[in-house]
Amino acid sequence: FKGFAMKRLNEIGWVEKEVPECGPMDAIIKPTCVSPCTSDIHTVWEGAIGDRRDMILGHEAVGEVVEVGSMVKKFKPGDRVIVPAITPDWDDEAAQRGFPSQTTEPLGGWKFSNFKDGVFGERFHVNMADANLTFIPDGLSDEGACMLTDMWSTGMMGSENANIPLGGTVLVIGIGAVGLSAIAGAKCLGAGRLFAAGTRPISVEVAKKYGATDIINYKNGPIDEQVRELTDGAGVDSVVIAGGNLENTWAEAIKSAKAGGTVSNVNYLSGADNVLIPRVEWGCGMSNINITNGLCPGGAVRMERLADLALCGRQDPELLVTHKFKGLEKIEDALLLMKDKPKDLIKPVVMLDID
Ligand code: NAD
Ligand code: ZN
Repeated sequence: FKGFAMKRLNEIGWVEKEVPECGPMDAIIKPTCVSPCTSDIHTVWEGAIGDRRDMILGHEAVGEVVEVGSMVKKFKPGDRVIVPAITPDWDDEAAQRGFPSQTTEPLGGWKFSNFKDGVFGERFHVNMADANLTFIPDGLSDEGACMLTDMWSTGMMGSENANIPLGGTVLVIGIGAVGLSAIAGAKCLGAGRLFAAGTRPISVEVAKKYGATDIINYKNGPIDEQVRELTDGAGVDSVVIAGGNLENTWAEAIKSAKAGGTVSNVNYLSGADNVLIPRVEWGCGMSNINITNGLCPGGAVRMERLADLALCGRQDPELLVTHKFKGLEKIEDALLLMKDKPKDLIKPVVMLDID
C-alpha cells in the first residue's frame, strides 16, 4: 500500500509498504481522517528524534477497522474507531506505575511515526486494540474526533499537570492547537483568570472561545512583565508551556509563577541542548515553583473521556480545524502547510475516501 513518509532527515515522499501483520491482540486500520502534527515537523526538519528511513509519518487518525487479531474482543472489521496518538503497552511495568506513555522506554508509548510506520498510509497497525482503540461516538465528527487523539489529550494534560487551583490564575504560553487545548482544559479544570500568550488572530479567536480572559502579545515584551503588570505584581498559579523557545520561554514561565505555583511543559523541545532556568527568580532552587512535564496520554479510556467533554458540550474540538483536504494524495500539502504555519492555520485535516 501507499504511504507518505520521512525518507531521511529533511526529505519526505511516497513509499510502498506491505500491510503489517496483525498480532493476536492487534488491529489493522484504514484511516478515514488524519492530521499532521507540529511534532512531524520537528521529526523531519529539526532531527528531533534522529534519523529515520522510509518511515510513514503521522500519528493523529480516526479510521475503520479492517482486521483484528484472534484475542481482540471489542472490535470487528467495519467498526469506526478513534486511534490515540499514543498506544501504550499496557502490560509494561511503567504502565503499572502510572506512566503508560513511557512504556518499554522513554516516550515508548509513542509508536506511530517514531519507531513504527504512522497513520499517513492506506493501512496502519495498532497494538493492543482493546486497550487502545475506542468507538467514534454518535455526535462526534471524524475531524472533531481526530483532534482528541493528540491535541486535546496533550494540551489538556498540560493543564492537568499544572495543578490549577479552583479559581486560580493560569498562563498558557503558545496558542497553537496544543496551547489552545490547554486553555480548553484549564477552563474545564476550574481556572479563574486565564492568560493566553500568542499572536495568530485565528488562534486568539479560538483562545477566547475556549475560555481565555486576557490575551498577551509576546512580541510586545517579556511575557512575565506583562503578566506581573496585569496581576498587580502577583503572578499566576499555573503556567503551561506549549510553544516558544529555549532561550526565553522557560525564564518567562518561571518569572510569571507565584511561590507554590507550577510550570507544566508540553512543548517538544528542540533547537539547543539546554533549557535556561533563571536561578535567582527560581528562588536559587528553593522557590517551591514546581516544574512538570509529560507525553500525551493515550489509550481507550482517555479518548472516551475527551469525547465526553465534546459530547457534553464543555468544549468543541472542531474549533481547531481550519483547513480541510480531501484524498490521500493531499497529505503532502497538509504537512507542508503545518510546516509553513500561515496566519490563518491552526490544524489541517485530510479526509480520506480510499477503498
Ligand atoms: P504551534 O507551532 O502551532 O504552536 C506554537 C505557538 O507558539 C505558535 O503559534 C508560535 O507562534 C508560538 N510562539 C513562538 N514563539 C513564541 C514565544 N516566544 N512566546 C510565546 N509563543 C510563541 O504548535 P502546536 O501544534 O500547538 O504544538 C506545540 C508544541 O507541542 C510543539 O512543540 C509540538 O511538537 C508539541 N507537542 C507535544 C506533545 C507531547 O506529547 N508533549 C504532543 C503533541 C505536540
Ligand atoms: Zn503529535
